[in-house]
Amino acid sequence: MRCHRRFVRTAATAVLLLLAACRPAPPAPVRLEWLTMGTVAAVQCADAAAAPHVRDLAQRTFQSLDNDLSAWNPASTLCAVNAAAGTPRPVAVPPDFAAVLQAALGFCADSEGAFNPLIGPVMQAWGFNGGALHPVCPAAEDLVALLARTHWHDIHLTTGAQATVRLALPGMQLDFGAIAKGYAVDLAWERLKAAGHTNLLIDLGGNLRALGEAAPGRGGWRTGVRNPFQAHALAGKFLMRDGEAVATSGNYERFVEIDGLRYAHIMDGRTGQPVTGMAGVTVIAPDAATADALSTALFILGPQRGAALLRTRPGCEALWIPDTPERLTVLATPGFAARLTPVGDTPYRLTVVTP
Ligand code: ADP
Ligand code: MG
Repeated sequence: MRCHRRFVRTAATAVLLLLAACRPAPPAPVRLEWLTMGTVAAVQCADAAAAPHVRDLAQRTFQSLDNDLSAWNPASTLCAVNAAAGTPRPVAVPPDFAAVLQAALGFCADSEGAFNPLIGPVMQAWGFNGGALHPVCPAAEDLVALLARTHWHDIHLTTGAQATVRLALPGMQLDFGAIAKGYAVDLAWERLKAAGHTNLLIDLGGNLRALGEAAPGRGGWRTGVRNPFQAHALAGKFLMRDGEAVATSGNYERFVEIDGLRYAHIMDGRTGQPVTGMAGVTVIAPDAATADALSTALFILGPQRGAALLRTRPGCEALWIPDTPERLTVLATPGFAARLTPVGDTPYRLTVVTP
């Protein structure tokens, strides 16, 4: 009798397995792309019918933030604040502007000025963001003069019914390039969630945030870590869980060449020098503004000081790839190391860095 029951159970399991094998795989998520904020934005949706609505909401959100935070749009709030630098006149700013500035100032304090939202004039001196077409290395005394305009205590932010910002010295310039895209992703994520959407991934120039999962039972969204030394190749992959954000800062996409040497678009706010020695940093965080800002801050600080900064940031994990093209090396916090799996035939040498 017992034998018969076991046979029935085994047969039933076999039928279920067969049915599962025959069931068509869930369709791949639909991906819709567009250009905004100087980069490519995309949404991926498990529910194809919802994709255009998700795209429209995200698009509107990014556009309205760009009107506030863009350094390229002369009509933006950011340009108005920068233009009024050194005058006694505070500039009224919308709540999102004040929130981005406040968050940026927090990262500035935590990184002891390595991350600095006043990096604008230094970026230009090195030929970025409208600087010289054929830049030369700024002279030491010029950098000292520029760094004098990057003291964050010279930013006067008042919050309340109407937030205002005043930059105390002429020539000071805010630059939200390291945090604005992440903030925009968070705002779109919150609006999409409030509107009842789920099972989607938002991507704004490599700033990602997941809502739900890519397919039933998948547990999240599979995400790759770029191999900085090989175009279109991945160094590893991991699963982004519901609600999580991921951002990457790299030296391979935006750089200038001076005297045959490449300088990446991330400056050390303490010295005004472009960061060298690092190829890429990827951060997992509970929100996209944090992931965005931290990927830049940890790119500057490197693994040891960077990992120490993460002690006060629960839910954040980081991964560093030093600029050693001859050998793909990965340094990662324990939580990231545990989630990362290698891809293809490019094995990396992994070192775990403890915060
Ligand atoms: P990407 O914009 O390519 O995603 P990041 O998020 O790392 O890369 O941001 C780089 C941008 O951050 C630069 O283009 C510049 O606008 C800004 N930036 C550069 N250095 C600093 C710094 N030390 N602190 C804050 N922002 C910075
Ligand atoms: Mg960033």
